[in-house]
Amino acid sequence: MKQIPELFGSMVFNDHVMRQVLPKTVYKSLKRTMQEGTALESDVADVVAACMKDWAVSKGATHFTHWFQPMTGITAEKHDSFISPDGNGNVLMDFSGKELVKGEPDASSFPSGGLRATFEARGYTAWDPTSYAFIKDDTLFIPTAFCSYTGQILDKKTPLLRSMDAVSKEAVRTLKLFNKDVKRVTATIGPEQEYFLIDVKDYEKRIDLKLTGRTLFGAPSPKGQEKEDHYFGSIRPRVKAFMAELDQELWKLGIPSKTEHNEVAPCQHEMAPVFETANIATDANQLTMEVMKQVAERHGFACLLHEKPFEGINGSGKHNNWSLSTDSGENLLDPGKTPSENAQFILFLTAIIKAVDDYQDLLRLSVASAGNDHRLGANEAPPAILSIFVGDELEEVINSIIESRSAKSGGMNKIELGMVLPRLPQDNSDRNRTSPFAFTGNKFEFRMLGSSFNIACTNTILNTAVAESLRLFNDELEGKEDFSFALHNLIKRELQEHKRILFNGNGYSKEWEEEAERRGLLNYKKTPDALVHYTDEKNVELFKRHGIYTFEELKSREEILIDGYQKQIKIEALTMIEMLKREIIPACLRYSDKLAKGIETKKSIGLDPDGELTLCKDLTENISELIAKTDALKYDVDNFPSDVYKAARYSSDVVIPMMDEARRSADYLETIVDKKEWPMPTYTDILFYN
Ligand code: ADP
Ligand code: MG
Repeated sequence: MKQIPELFGSMVFNDHVMRQVLPKTVYKSLKRTMQEGTALESDVADVVAACMKDWAVSKGATHFTHWFQPMTGITAEKHDSFISPDGNGNVLMDFSGKELVKGEPDASSFPSGGLRATFEARGYTAWDPTSYAFIKDDTLFIPTAFCSYTGQILDKKTPLLRSMDAVSKEAVRTLKLFNKDVKRVTATIGPEQEYFLIDVKDYEKRIDLKLTGRTLFGAPSPKGQEKEDHYFGSIRPRVKAFMAELDQELWKLGIPSKTEHNEVAPCQHEMAPVFETANIATDANQLTMEVMKQVAERHGFACLLHEKPFEGINGSGKHNNWSLSTDSGENLLDPGKTPSENAQFILFLTAIIKAVDDYQDLLRLSVASAGNDHRLGANEAPPAILSIFVGDELEEVINSIIESRSAKSGGMNKIELGMVLPRLPQDNSDRNRTSPFAFTGNKFEFRMLGSSFNIACTNTILNTAVAESLRLFNDELEGKEDFSFALHNLIKRELQEHKRILFNGNGYSKEWEEEAERRGLLNYKKTPDALVHYTDEKNVELFKRHGIYTFEELKSREEILIDGYQKQIKIEALTMIEMLKREIIPACLRYSDKLAKGIETKKSIGLDPDGELTLCKDLTENISELIAKTDALKYDVDNFPSDVYKAARYSSDVVIPMMDEARRSADYLETIVDKKEWPMPTYTDILFYN
C-alpha cells in the first residue's frame, strides 16, 4: 500500500499536478481563471486539455465525462472515450479545449420544471475550473455547471457558485469597514455524513429497500437503540474493513475523510471530512455518497443513505458545518482576541442571526423531502422549526448588548471598544445536540439536512441570506463618521429585532413548539407546507437582487421539488400495495390456513384447541382488516390529482395516513405469524447481522 500522503489526491488533477504538467504561462492563466473567474482563452484551454488527457491516460483513463448535478439531486455523467480515428485505421487519444470547456448532453430527460420544453433537448455543461477534475473508474471526470441553451440554470452547482460570489462581495465590503483589504471571502463547509450499512443479502430480499430506500414494513425488534451501546461503540471487523477501504478510495480522490465512527442506531455510522470551500465540499459530498455505495457492495453490504430506513430507530442526517474565511485564512466566525476583532465577529454573528430569522422559510424548505419528513420533529433530529443555539456565554453577551450593560460571567467578558463589545472567551464550544442551527466555537452547524441531500441548495440559501444581511449593514455603515457609534446602534437594534430566533433549550420538547409559536417562528411540519414558499415575494426578491435565480428559475425549482415529492410518495404506496398483495397477505393466509386445518383435525379426534382458535380468529380478523386497508390504499393511489401541487397535498394528507394504517396492521401480523412463513427479513435480522 502506498503511503497516505502519496495516495492522497493521486487521482486528482490538482494544483500540484497542474504545476508539474502545465507550461508556466498556461498554469498562471488557468490560476487567474480559477481565482478571479476570468474567461479562459481557447488556446490556453487546448493546452490544459491536452495535458489533462496525457495525465489521465497515464493513470489508465480511457474516457472522459462532464460531471454535473441536475435537479434530480444526484450527479449525472455521460462518458465519451478519448479515441479519435486517425484516418489510417488507427486511433489517437485526443481531447480538445472545446471538449474540456463545453459539453452538450441530451438534456431533455432531466427535470427542468417547464424551463426547457422537452423537444428543445439542447442544454450544455460548462467546465467549473474551481473544482478539480479527477479520475474514477478509468474515466476523467470534469466538474461542470449545467444550463439550458437559453442560459437558464438547470443544476445545483451554478446557484451555489453564484451565492459564493454574492456572500464574498458583501463580506469584502464589510471587512473594509474594519480597514481590512481582502479580495475574496469564501464559504467553507464540512459535511458530516451519516449512513446505514446492512447485509446485502437482507437488502436483496426487500423490494421496499430496493425501490424506495426505506423499509415500508417491519415490527420493532425486541432490542432497538435503547441501550445506546452502538454510539461510538467498537466497530465490527467487517465494517472496519469497509471504512478502511472507503478512506482509501476517498483519499485517492482528494477527499479528506477524517473521522469514522458508529452512530446511535444499530448499523448506523458516520464519516466526517475536513472542511473545504463550499463548492469543493459539495462535489466531494456527492462523490462520497457514491463511493460509499460502491465500496459497500465490495464488502457484501448495502449502504443506505435514506433519512429513515427503519421506523422506531434514529434516521440519518447530514450536519452542515459552515463558516466564512478570507483569502488570508482568517475565519470570520472565530471570536478573536482583540476588541476590534470582537466587534467584527459580533457584526458577522448578527448578520447570520438576522439571515436565519428572515429566511427561516428558505432554510426549512431546503431540507424538505419525503424522506426527511420522517426525521424532523421526531425526537431524534431537530424540529421543523428554525432556531439558533449560541450557548449561554454568547447569549449573555448578546443580552448585555441589547440591554446596554456589561456582560456577567466569570469576569471573562470585559467591556471594550468604547461602550460596546465585550471580550469573548475563546472556548465557546458547549453543545446542544437538539438545536437545528448551533454555534460551535468558530462555525455554525446546520443539522436539519437529510443524509441523502445534495448540500448545494442549503448552502446557496445560507450564503445568499447572509449576503443580504451584510448588504443592508454595509449600506448603513459605510461612510459613517462615528463608526463605533453607528456599529453599536446597528448591532443593538438588529439583535433586539431578531432575538426571537435564539433558543438554547431543548429543541425536542413540546414546550419549545408552543414557545416558538408564541414567538412567531415558522413551523412548516411537512414538505408540501414548506416548498410552496420558495416563490414568496420576499424570496424572489432576495434571489433576484443577488443574481442567483430569476423568478422562472425559482418557480421551476419549486415545481420540480413538489413533483419529486408526490412521485416519491406514489412509488412508496405502490410498493406497499405490491408487497401486501404478493408477499405479506399470502404469507398470513398460508399460516392461518395451516392453523385452521390443524384445529379441524384436532377437533375431529375430540380435542378442544381453544388457544389455537383464539389465535386463528385474531389472525383472520386482522387479515380481513389488512385486505380492506390494502384496497383503500389502492383506491387512494388510483385517485391521485393530476395537478402536482394538489397531488403533493393529497400525498401528505390522504395517502401517507393510509399507508401508516396499512403498515400498523401488517406489522401486528408480523408479530403473530410463524417466522418461517414471513416473506422478508425482519428488523432483528437486518439490524443485528454478523
Ligand atoms: P463534531 O463534534 O460536530 O463532530 P468536529 O470538530 O468533528 O465536530 O467537526 C465537524 C466538522 O466541522 C468537520 O467536518 C470539520 O472539518 C468542520 N469544520 C471545522 N472548522 C470549520 C470551518 N471553519 N468551516 C466549515 N467547517 C468546519
Ligand atoms: Mg457535528
